[in-house]
Amino acid sequence: MGAYRDHYRRSIEARDEFWADEAKLIDWQTPPSQICDFSRPPFVRWYVGGRTNLCHNAVDRHVATRGEQTALHFISTETDAEVKYSYRELHAEVNRVAAMLQSLGVGQGDRVLIYMPMIPEAVFAMLATVRIGAIHSVVFGGFASASLATRIDDAQPKVIVSADAGMRMGKVVPYKPLLDAAIDLAAKKPARVLLFDRKLEPMALKAGRDVDWAALRATHHEAAVPVAWVDSTHPSYILYTSGTTGRPKGVQRDTGGYAVALTSSMRKVFALDPGETMFCTSDIGWVVGHSYIVYGPLLNGNTTIMYEGVPLRPDPAIWWKICAENNVKTMFSSPTAIRVLKKQDPDYMKRHKLPALRYLFLAGEPLDEPTARWVSDALGGTAIIDNYWQTESGWPILSAQIAVEDTPRKFGSPSFPVYGFDVVLKSEDGSAVGADQKAVLTIRPPLPPGALSTVWGDDERFVSTYFGSFRDEALYNTFDWATRDADGYYFILGRTDDVINVAGHRLGTREIEEAVQGNALVAECAVVGVADSLKGQVPVAFVVLKDPSQAGDAARSAIAQTVDREIGAIARPAAVHFVTLLPKTRSGKLLRRSIQALAEGRDPGDLTTIEDPSALAQIKGALGIA
Ligand code: AMP
Repeated sequence: MGAYRDHYRRSIEARDEFWADEAKLIDWQTPPSQICDFSRPPFVRWYVGGRTNLCHNAVDRHVATRGEQTALHFISTETDAEVKYSYRELHAEVNRVAAMLQSLGVGQGDRVLIYMPMIPEAVFAMLATVRIGAIHSVVFGGFASASLATRIDDAQPKVIVSADAGMRMGKVVPYKPLLDAAIDLAAKKPARVLLFDRKLEPMALKAGRDVDWAALRATHHEAAVPVAWVDSTHPSYILYTSGTTGRPKGVQRDTGGYAVALTSSMRKVFALDPGETMFCTSDIGWVVGHSYIVYGPLLNGNTTIMYEGVPLRPDPAIWWKICAENNVKTMFSSPTAIRVLKKQDPDYMKRHKLPALRYLFLAGEPLDEPTARWVSDALGGTAIIDNYWQTESGWPILSAQIAVEDTPRKFGSPSFPVYGFDVVLKSEDGSAVGADQKAVLTIRPPLPPGALSTVWGDDERFVSTYFGSFRDEALYNTFDWATRDADGYYFILGRTDDVINVAGHRLGTREIEEAVQGNALVAECAVVGVADSLKGQVPVAFVVLKDPSQAGDAARSAIAQTVDREIGAIARPAAVHFVTLLPKTRSGKLLRRSIQALAEGRDPGDLTTIEDPSALAQIKGALGIA
């Protein structure tokens, strides 16, 4: 492990020199005068004095050298569409959309909220936004009106970009009515809404506010919009993520640090040379989509495949067909997707020869050993690489770094710290952590380039949420438990907080509880994450009704509908159990962990602080445990 270790050590011990070298991977209009300003911890400013532009680095600079290479290859098995955009064509589209946004009044520093299905126009909108120095906030299309409204109020976008509808499993999923409802709910309304009409669903435009994409595009067909050179520290985007409170946090990313870290990670972690092809199956609404469908591959001059569809349609071989036909070298997906494929006829995995597919990266949730082994056997020669990170980090914190050194992998482990991340295992009581001992995974600041710079509009929340956990040192808390074995391999054991992970998507149990409580029948509730063989975890709700005689299927489905409306179907409880009392401590704190343990068939732990033990008996009764 010599090469890995030396490289990693240099990134920590010779930090500025290391990141000065990596900065050469991108174009700077003005080179930085200082690599790392950590004079106001825990805040860090990377590449101070440098001026650059994310869109220039992702698009413009490739036009001269690889203008005819496919930059974005869109495949939809929902609408049976397939379109390829060369770097030259992508450049032209992005210029048009940049001009369109400017015509709607968007200027440097303004926010553009993007609520779109997986279509190329969403990527154009992201790149066009950063081209003109504005800040995008992509909201996952599966989020419903109330969640969207919270994000509108926090980001206060000048313009929202959206579409008539998405498609999932052959069914039209309307976007426009949800967007209209969200804008009605929001306290701060956007001035204009730009709407791409896929002609999937009739869409009424609101006069004076809504603008049709195609009509506006026609007037900007020949547009050439110069890139806005911005400070390296200028925010490029905001991406909301769930925490322990009901209020999502806007993870704010810079420009220069993100461009450098992402380009570097494409080479060293994902092992792609410019010109090669990557297929990431995530959605642009999540951090993996931002970093490895859009920015990483384009910054590195790769071809990126954008896929609208599910892994099972038209048949469960579709992803491997895409890989085979397009010489995909690196694929990125999630453990849940692989568990879905594992349930299908194994012949689908063998239908296509995949000589080009070297690496399958999996992230977002724990990759259990049987799934890792299964996919490794099924794909034969493809290396399976578990990598661990978060919305906040922007790129992997733990992973094998193939192009630095092809270190052996252990199933169940995302291997080692990635360069730049000074990972520290911290025990809760401050004692030293030995091999295989469970501790909190933390990062000693400064966080490396590419990680969040702050929480949008709330520096205080950034400091108190992430750096306020340990008395002796202001370490960044990932809120994940981990161990490290005697060989230095890390293993992730789950969250330390009340955040759950459903099919790789992070949801706050508090957030779901607030949604459930939004139903008029509900007096009180507790939501816990329960282990699930397919999705990793699913939310399960224990509900106290105002009128207990209403307990039954009608109340269950009413509660499910409320959650769908408030957050979206991803947060819908897999089960709703009715009780008349919830287990709480004498000081009124919900004993979520005990409820969760019971729901997973484990010992509920220390119950000495419980106010009324009969509450636990009710939970057991609801779960059918004697
Ligand atoms: P998100 O910010 O939505 O990407 O969620 C990040 C969280 O997902 C982490 O804090 C972990 O709890 C979990 N996670 C991500 N990747 C992995 C992985 N490879 N193994 C285990 N857990 C992971």
